[in-house]
Amino acid sequence: MKVLISDSIADKGVEMMRQAGLEVDVDAGLAPEELERIIGGYNVIVVRSATKVRKPIIETAKNLKLIVRAGVGLDNIDVEYARSKGIEVTNTPAASSNAVAELTVGYLFALARRIPQTTASMRAGKWEKKKFRGSEIAGKTLGLVGYGRIGWLVAKKVLAMGLDIIAYDPYVADPRGLDMEFASLEELFQRSDYISMHLPLTNETRDLIAGPQFEMMKDGVCLVNCARGGTINEDALYEAIVSGKVAGAALDVYSEEPVRDNKLFELDEVIGSPHIGAATVEAQHRVSVEVAEKVIEFPAAFS
Ligand code: NAD
Repeated sequence: MKVLISDSIADKGVEMMRQAGLEVDVDAGLAPEELERIIGGYNVIVVRSATKVRKPIIETAKNLKLIVRAGVGLDNIDVEYARSKGIEVTNTPAASSNAVAELTVGYLFALARRIPQTTASMRAGKWEKKKFRGSEIAGKTLGLVGYGRIGWLVAKKVLAMGLDIIAYDPYVADPRGLDMEFASLEELFQRSDYISMHLPLTNETRDLIAGPQFEMMKDGVCLVNCARGGTINEDALYEAIVSGKVAGAALDVYSEEPVRDNKLFELDEVIGSPHIGAATVEAQHRVSVEVAEKVIEFPAAFS
């Protein structure tokens, strides 16, 4: 059983696979043509988001039995096509949930107290106490769009901080032990002081928040998106901030990544990070261990 790791994962998982007797090559940053040339020699490929496992690669992968995505989204893999060729595709969806939930909670405080902006002001040698009078998040309403693994975990964490939680999720009706309420999307927009996205990007969710949705929101609402770019329309968000409707936005994900020239970052109200939701030591450790377990437990691994 030969395993190719084509996007780097934490060492622990690599060690585990080698200790289990699997032959593991770590070769991150391969060009697509290079991957196409060598993939025939492998039974398993482990990728994160950089390696694209598209039709031409799958067609030449004559011995491939398993594709493991170290992380959540499978958008870089032609999943249906791979499965039609008898290749199993799997991922590690839960391993990074806590990291993303913590970043989300951090952003709530960063928006309320404008921590990145105060830091920039201090770096510029200023002492702007009046300008930076903030607000508290306790007593406010957080609207979660999507109440899956991460949405639920965010709710669990922030309930202890005194926020009221409402959530919209057309596929979930169980509060899973938390003191929260479900609402329609329209009601969520009308009642929330903070709105946080925790849903996948699909045809149904693209531009879920655009011009008309901003109109329904409270003046001074703040938005957080640590889920997927494209669920909030970026042009509409820009307009909503310039008009004063939206007081702040914290973004970890974008409609085009990597971000080169996104006009949202011309606005002082926008804070952000380069898609680092899952990028913690602990999450990457958990991801690599889960990847290794999935490969080692794969029925064909030692046959
Ligand atoms: P999940 O599948 O557990 O939860 C997603 C929820 O979205 C589900 O409950 C689903 O019913 C709901 N949903 C689907 N369509 C919806 C719609 N139209 N409206 C409202 N809800 C809808 O996924 P998760 O693990 O909680 O991840 C949530 C998001 O976070 C995903 O987009 C994932 O890709 C993203 N994510 C980002 C990072 C990062 O680095 N920033 C890391 C991990 C996950």
